[in-house]
Amino acid sequence: MKHYKLMIPGPVDVEDEVLAAMSSASMPHYGADWLEIYHDVIAMLKQVFQTENDVLLMPGPGSAALDAALGSLLAPGELVCIPVSGFFSRRLVKIANANGLHVLPVDFAQGQPVEPETLRQRMAEQREMERRSGNQPRLRALAMVHHETSTGVLNPLPEIVAVAREFDLPIIVDAVSSMGGVPLPVDEWGIDVCVTVANKCLATPPGVAILSVSPRAWEMIAAQENSGRGWYLNLSTWRYYMDNWAWHPYPITLPTNNIIALQVSLKRILAEGLEAHYASYVRASSLVRQGLRDMGFEMFVADEWACPVVSAVRARPDVPTGELHDFLRDEHGILIAGGLEDLHGIIFRVGHMGKAASQEYSLAFLQGVEDFLRRRGLI
Ligand SMILES: *Cc1c(COP(=O)(O)O)cnc(C)c1O
Repeated sequence: MKHYKLMIPGPVDVEDEVLAAMSSASMPHYGADWLEIYHDVIAMLKQVFQTENDVLLMPGPGSAALDAALGSLLAPGELVCIPVSGFFSRRLVKIANANGLHVLPVDFAQGQPVEPETLRQRMAEQREMERRSGNQPRLRALAMVHHETSTGVLNPLPEIVAVAREFDLPIIVDAVSSMGGVPLPVDEWGIDVCVTVANKCLATPPGVAILSVSPRAWEMIAAQENSGRGWYLNLSTWRYYMDNWAWHPYPITLPTNNIIALQVSLKRILAEGLEAHYASYVRASSLVRQGLRDMGFEMFVADEWACPVVSAVRARPDVPTGELHDFLRDEHGILIAGGLEDLHGIIFRVGHMGKAASQEYSLAFLQGVEDFLRRRGLI
């Protein structure tokens, strides 16, 4: 099987040491040996999340944990505000609707950040409507994407949390592609549920989602206990096992190999230091963006809002994104990503997570682009 250098927005190329841990022998997901590993991983995740909230490991993709969060905190018919500015925030709306929730969407242009002031106005209007008419669904929470991976925009989360706090709303954050990539102190910022995965900035193969749950979120979950929601994605199920099964504080079989690999990766990240880990993305994205600009490309997102984890680049009329993508794959063994849905052909995206944060990957990518332009007679 041919291996390509992954410079996509996840999954990511992982270190050999992490990969090797994936092939450790099978072991039961309970018992003293396992619990030592499990609790070590949870303790390290708390350091990365900078939280004292409970942290759960949920086998599955990030979308599963988002489904669990929205479906467990809120009851069908309740209203959640979701700022929408790209593919993943649109997905958050779909997940909310699939759980029977009403959504107050607040739209922002793709490539632009969520504006706290606009959000404040829309929430104030909503509260006013609720006050005037008794039968409006009441606004109960704010759910949002931190790094909108489809556009490369990093939203101003602390300012948005401050707005949610004015309305006394709990906040659910999709930090799938930002946790571990940029500063995100969950407790300091006051995030009630924060969702990520092992396979983006935590540089591990896919398989586990991770979520932190605040005491206030647990209270909301407890109040929904008999809402008739499913079992696996119902966080009250998870709470029951945490409280009653100390030898097995989760309801299901855990993918032990994935978690052992996560342990190896977290050790590396924490040994390096979180700040240094964040800095590696800043370094890689700066190098790649400068190199692309020098070759005549423009970035899709203003520097002020651009997340260092993924670079979104405007397509040039003389460089069809599909052709550049295929050329990099076939001639240089590098995979990049296109734009999703309506951004297809408009932008391409370069991921800097995992091994892509290295200078080796960044330079190989820039050489590949230069080679493409040269062969086309464009430089
Ligand atoms: C990758 C990503 C997801 C989806 O993650 P899955 O694991 O594929 O469900 C959701 N939100 C954001 C912001 C992402 O980057």
